[in-house]
Amino acid sequence: MFSLSILDEKWIPVIYFDGCISKIKPSQLVDETISDLAYFRPDFRGAAYQFLIGLLQTTFSPGDNDEWLSYWYGGISQSQLDEAFKQAKPAMQFGKKKPAFMQDFTPLNGNKVPISGLLVEAPGENTLKKNTDHFIKRDFVKAICPHCAVMALFSLQTNAPSGGQGHRVSLRGGGPITTLMMPELNTLTPLWKKLWLNVIPIDDDKKIQNYDETVFPWLNKTITSEPPKNLSVFPEQANCCQAFWGMPRRIELDFDNMTQGSCDLCGENSSKLISHYKTKNYGIQYQNWRHPLSPYRYDSRTGTPIAIKGQPEGLIYRDWLGMVKTNNEIQSAQVVAIHYYRTLKSLENYHLWCFGYDFDNMKARSWYERTFPIYPLLTDADSDIKELIELAIEFSKNALLLLRKALISINKQSSSVDIAYWKETEIPFYQLLKQLTKDKPNSRIHLLLKWMNILLKYITQVYDKAAFSDPDQQIISSQKINAREKLLNDFNKLRNIKKLKIINRPDCI
Ligand SMILES: [Zn+2]
Repeated sequence: MFSLSILDEKWIPVIYFDGCISKIKPSQLVDETISDLAYFRPDFRGAAYQFLIGLLQTTFSPGDNDEWLSYWYGGISQSQLDEAFKQAKPAMQFGKKKPAFMQDFTPLNGNKVPISGLLVEAPGENTLKKNTDHFIKRDFVKAICPHCAVMALFSLQTNAPSGGQGHRVSLRGGGPITTLMMPELNTLTPLWKKLWLNVIPIDDDKKIQNYDETVFPWLNKTITSEPPKNLSVFPEQANCCQAFWGMPRRIELDFDNMTQGSCDLCGENSSKLISHYKTKNYGIQYQNWRHPLSPYRYDSRTGTPIAIKGQPEGLIYRDWLGMVKTNNEIQSAQVVAIHYYRTLKSLENYHLWCFGYDFDNMKARSWYERTFPIYPLLTDADSDIKELIELAIEFSKNALLLLRKALISINKQSSSVDIAYWKETEIPFYQLLKQLTKDKPNSRIHLLLKWMNILLKYITQVYDKAAFSDPDQQIISSQKINAREKLLNDFNKLRNIKKLKIINRPDCI
């Protein structure tokens, strides 16, 4: 009977500083010569980071910042990790015998579906039935090797979008944004440090007592969520580390009909290719969880935490502040808040790596990832930087609203205006940020006024192009001229209000 131990098998592809690529078992991550993970799919790379961070967090979490620092500077040995990971051994078996990693404890009698369904970009069951899989064809992925299957399974359970009736979303909802602390770009930082940066101290009262289903839900019968009870699992009912091991989907891979050939994902030859799995709806329904690697906002009516999700515009500077420092709208990930309090040298050399899917209901529209700068000055209670940046971003949002309104009034509205606006004003925004953090407090007001002028120039250029650049329309209508005037007037009103806000700040007098 096929079975592998996720802890003993060398299944994670990594790249070494000398450019070599090979596969390691999880505890080998401590090797100082490993530079990074080497997944061919960016979503698998993001998932693998979370898998390894989750494993460290669950079995090797430091009790406080001092302990965290002692490993950061002193390193971790493989034998230490072998010992720690052992605690999770029963949960890390992968094969027909239950319990099996991230698969339902009970044998399922659900529908048998093609293995491509584990991939979020694959057409869903309904799409196949209705024959509407225009973009990603059903035959693209037919059989995958066990190494890819483990990561596909983890990635699906971690990101799960809504999948039709009773097919539950991930512990953070469908397509959450993950934000990881990363060392300075282009430095020779080993993989283990990139992972360790994202492990946070856990208090003694939250430490895991038993490595059972309160951490790894597949170690016992699934707490299903069928109507009419619609049971949910709340954080109080489990250990906080289940955040890394959520299992919203009831899945059982078909290990009885394995074939030989090359894996349709990684291309490697295997005699254990998996081509189908069974699934059943009404898996675990999570409520009120806070995952340490994701930023959240709170529902204004219910106070429920809602993880930030991917959006069609991607990750843009509008969202930057909330990702790197909690503001009125977004609470940054726990891991980010903790980073500022670590007494690391040159904190500004770190950055935030953000990634996630943008789902349109059940379908993945795209995968986003980008890095954001981090400024430790943001946490300085005596500094006004955070408020000034908030004002700058608020001004950008307002200026876009005015532009949109003006374009609508001359029937030139387009959905691409927003995307272009955020993209094309991004470079000047980050230049503004850099300047704001460097300049003396009393010169910051001029930088903000300069920012307003940049936006004014941008919106008038876009408006003029939309309104007056059509060579077939020689006569310029008064409607267009009036709308332009209104745009300028409204912008000036806005600028005066913001100016007052800035000038009335005590430190600017
Ligand atoms: Zn493979």
